[in-house]
Amino acid sequence: MDCLFCKILNKEIPADIIYEDDQVIAFNDINPQAPTHALVVPRKHIDTVNDIADDDQALVGHMVQVAGKIAKEQGFDESGYRTVFNCNSHGGQTVFHIHLHLLGGKPLGWPPYFDENLKQPVA
Ligand code: 5GP
Ligand code: ZN
Repeated sequence: MDCLFCKILNKEIPADIIYEDDQVIAFNDINPQAPTHALVVPRKHIDTVNDIADDDQALVGHMVQVAGKIAKEQGFDESGYRTVFNCNSHGGQTVFHIHLHLLGGKPLGWPPYFDENLKQPVA
């Protein structure tokens, strides 16, 4: 399957891997939007959040827990951080293998307004 994150999982494409276990890997985003911007990716290929099956519930829970562990490891669990699953076009999903974004290390804006003129998120 022609999937960027499957290729990273199979070590066909390099990535800055910061966590790995039998169910997931986590690596730094190539275009970071915060001092720490990591992606927690299941070894199982699932296209979008819409495709999470009943059998995947523990896996997805594990992804969230791993994000929390990385936040603790990096020292911003108490100051806080954000975890995000983008889904499909309006969600801004560009890689169709589910991944949990972990953003931390600075105060983050909310909500993520979109500027219709600039066609990009407003900081
Ligand atoms: P999405 O937009 O699908 O929610 O998130 C995909 C993320 O993957 C983006 O934040 C993008 O910067 C990141 N990304 C895309 N290609 C690569 C790559 O080759 N390596 C890494 N480490 N991150 C990537
Ligand atoms: Zn994949």
